[in-house]
Amino acid sequence: MKVITVKQPGGAKQLQFVEHGKPTPKDGELLIKVEAAAVNRTDIINRESSSGYLNNPILGVEVAGVVEEAGPGAKTAVGTRVMGLVNGGGYAEYAVMPDERGMEIPENLSFEEAAAIPEVFLTAYQTLFWIGQLRPNESVLIHAGGSGVGTAAIQLAKQIGKANVITTAGSNEKLDFCESLGADVCINYKEQSIDEEVLNATKNQGVDLILDFIGASYWNKNLASIKVDGRWVLIGILGGAEIEKFNLMDVIGKRVQLTGTLLTPRSDEYKTALTTEFYSKTLELFANNKLRPIVDRIFSLNEAQQAHEHMENNKNIGKIILKVN
Ligand code: NAP
Repeated sequence: MKVITVKQPGGAKQLQFVEHGKPTPKDGELLIKVEAAAVNRTDIINRESSSGYLNNPILGVEVAGVVEEAGPGAKTAVGTRVMGLVNGGGYAEYAVMPDERGMEIPENLSFEEAAAIPEVFLTAYQTLFWIGQLRPNESVLIHAGGSGVGTAAIQLAKQIGKANVITTAGSNEKLDFCESLGADVCINYKEQSIDEEVLNATKNQGVDLILDFIGASYWNKNLASIKVDGRWVLIGILGGAEIEKFNLMDVIGKRVQLTGTLLTPRSDEYKTALTTEFYSKTLELFANNKLRPIVDRIFSLNEAQQAHEHMENNKNIGKIILKVN
């Protein structure tokens, strides 16, 4: 089968389209004929770093396709259209997936749309509800609103969370799109002061919850934007990992609950439990088009290099898809 691997840790040019042995499903696994995979920042981290999070030479953490073969004990029928997280190996014509993690694709969604769901919607669901404990009528600040995770989080926070959503992005085009997804307050971080706008929108109280993909460069803005007793979930470091100077008293004074999380290295059991709850809460919403997978652009598998460059240039709104077959 054809797959994408990394020649040596580095830039997008290190991606290579090569021949590789087809995987065999073990106990409780499905062999998926992949129709579409999707690009994630975790793939870029794995491409750049020899240590990465994956134990798999083939990139890719999510796929949509058709069950080709069920390993011993796997219950999903051959021929079922499924989407879900894989433990690496997604940028390929065939991939294996734990049976319990395969979500049957609603009939109204194409494979390309389905591939846009697992990683970003599961991440957003986990961060908003499991870790962030978002409750109805609370306010949530979602940074990078046009990102894959951001576009998923805005929809989930509105549709399931019934929350007041404040979002930030670097262009009015991205913000208009966030508004169309239901965001209540949209802040252009290149033209406006994030914390001033957040305080205006929350009667000077600040937000109950922050979904932070940015990290270091937003540290002070986040501290100024969070409510006393607010929750702050750090899931990315697009704005850097090291803060030059900060005062821990700010965290103590506001009684901030700051939590970090990473989905890819979590256990199979955790990912299964998350997938099961997420699917039960969202299937009907996807089937009724109340939740929408957001596809920015579709590349073919052998264009993975261009697809990575498109993401690294911050050009996408929503997901970048790799069409496999
Ligand atoms: P994405 O679709 O590539 O979008 C990222 C967007 O962030 C960019 O398009 C850009 O939009 C904005 N951005 C980039 N650098 C920035 C900076 N320095 N300051 C402010 N905004 C910046 O990303 P994604 O796949 O949704 O992932 C979003 C983040 O979530 C990434 O950091 C990723 O690593 C993280 N993530 C974490 C987990 C986890 O489990 N912890 C799981 C999935 C993803 P603008 O045009 O608005 O600047």
